[in-house]
Amino acid sequence: MSEKSTNLSNAKRRIERDIVALGIAVAAILMFIGTGSAVLPQIVRNWMSGSEGPDNFIINALLLNIALIIFGMRRYRELVSEIEQRRKAEETAQTLAETDPLTGCLNRRSIMPATDDLIAGAADGHEAVAFLMIDLDNFKQVNDLNGHKVGDQVLKTAAERMRSTLPAGALLARLGGDEFACVVTFDQRAPDKVDQIASQLIAKVSKPQDIDGVSVEITMSVGITTTVATQLRDKEVPDGQLLMHRSDIAMYHAKGHGKNRYFWFEASMENELRFRNELETGIRRGVDAGEFVPFYEQQIDLDTGEIVGFEMLARWKSPDLGLVNPAIFIPVAEEIGVIAQLSEQLIEQAFADAKEWDPKLTLSVNISPVQLRDPWFSQKLLKMLVKHNFPANRLEIEITESCIHENVGIVRSMITSLKNQGVKISLDDFGTGYSSLAQLRSLPFDRLKIDRSFVGELNEEDASEKIVTAIISLGDGLEMPVTAEGIEDERILEALRGKGAMKGQGYHYGRPESADDVRKRLAAHGLLAVLGIAEDSADDVPTEEQSIDQQRNRA
Ligand code: C2E
Ligand code: MG
Ligand code: MG
Repeated sequence: MSEKSTNLSNAKRRIERDIVALGIAVAAILMFIGTGSAVLPQIVRNWMSGSEGPDNFIINALLLNIALIIFGMRRYRELVSEIEQRRKAEETAQTLAETDPLTGCLNRRSIMPATDDLIAGAADGHEAVAFLMIDLDNFKQVNDLNGHKVGDQVLKTAAERMRSTLPAGALLARLGGDEFACVVTFDQRAPDKVDQIASQLIAKVSKPQDIDGVSVEITMSVGITTTVATQLRDKEVPDGQLLMHRSDIAMYHAKGHGKNRYFWFEASMENELRFRNELETGIRRGVDAGEFVPFYEQQIDLDTGEIVGFEMLARWKSPDLGLVNPAIFIPVAEEIGVIAQLSEQLIEQAFADAKEWDPKLTLSVNISPVQLRDPWFSQKLLKMLVKHNFPANRLEIEITESCIHENVGIVRSMITSLKNQGVKISLDDFGTGYSSLAQLRSLPFDRLKIDRSFVGELNEEDASEKIVTAIISLGDGLEMPVTAEGIEDERILEALRGKGAMKGQGYHYGRPESADDVRKRLAAHGLLAVLGIAEDSADDVPTEEQSIDQQRNRA
């Protein structure tokens, strides 16, 4: 028998017992009135004048009657206290059902009716209701790096800080995980009030939290929408569901535009979200279907002008979108958790391609910070090297500065283990992050890559020239050779030439190209390991120029 049906039959039995007890008590009272009115005067008379008293049987019946009344009264008292206990238990159950046990906020179930009540209350007059959807940024990392106990504490403190910021009467709910919602009423004539609340929430929650001696900082992204009529479409009735849906879309917009900020919902965001969903589905399907291909950008020794290697740059041959650049799909692949699988596919293809090149040519691959968080990353990479019989000393991995801020300890041990196998490590896009000199000195990088934003402005901006010179002498001091990215023309190349030995890459030498085009280029330079170019260029990957034209046309 199920627990529910057992509970039901217990309750039924209790009710039956209570009815019987109540029946006995009522019968006892009636009997007491009946027998007592006849017997009690006789007893009183017997005491007063010594006349004959009532029959013993009647006296016993009366005593029994009194006992039954006492029993009934006690049962009544028990019943009252049982009802009180039951009421309290029901209250507790309801509170549990409506609140989040960790933070004490409302939960996903209870926020909806509470929001609808606020909307109904604000239906007249100047008041409107604003729904703020909140999602903590990178909370998973806090959990992964510090453990769930610290993660729970971060959620609790964030909720307390939000509660203390909200005006009286506002609602605060934890919708699950690191997702919260605030609902506030405000004067429609002063919507700035909502902006103020959003800014205060972001500012308060992002203050560092000290938990067991660990300082944790967390930011949040917020999406806002309101019941104000001008923000609604024809015949749309604002209710909790609609507000939640729209503020969620605006919150995703905030996530996609740098996090740690808020956005008001706008209709165009819905299309953006649809595109984003299609992108996610397309990427997942594309990874399974092997639609991601490596392109290669030449790396040149600036002194000799010779090709010394290639940087592999991912491209997506999407059946719907054409050739897509990594700036569009890498961040999404990172977020939806397929970056490692995607990257491994590309690296394996790149190893196969590079084995056809002259063995003195190096291969650089970009590695996402998400991959570096995987403690098995270096083992996976070494396994791929072995599988393809690719010499480790021909491989360079490029990591960006953001990787070293996330967990310098893990990055150091990863770098050390890869270096021990002969793999080289470059620090990519150098100058755009916040690496300290101490970090640079403590991490054994083999190369610094000067970000193209500085190189591209050489000759035009005096400041860029000084930064490039400073990075080159920094590399000198740390004994790290440098590569200049983004050499777009002869003038930039000239500006770099006098600054010492370095490698360079950029559109001046050509756009990133497919494996087939690289093979042809190398054949022309006599730089193929295996003679004879496969004439099977049937694989119709468009050139970089063609793909840029395609993307421009689509835009
Ligand atoms: P990155 O590693 O800094 O790669 C250089 C980027 O600069 C490439 O863009 C390249 O096409 C572009 N570029 C090269 N020369 C010039 C130039 O002269 N002028 C200008 N304006 N740009 C130039 P791309 O291919 O769009 O890649 C963008 C970024 O995407 C890369 O920046 C890299 O961080 C990332 N990425 C590419 N492939 C992968 C990958 O397989 N895995 C990961 N995690 N990231 C990748
Ligand atoms: Mg790179
Ligand atoms: Mg770069």
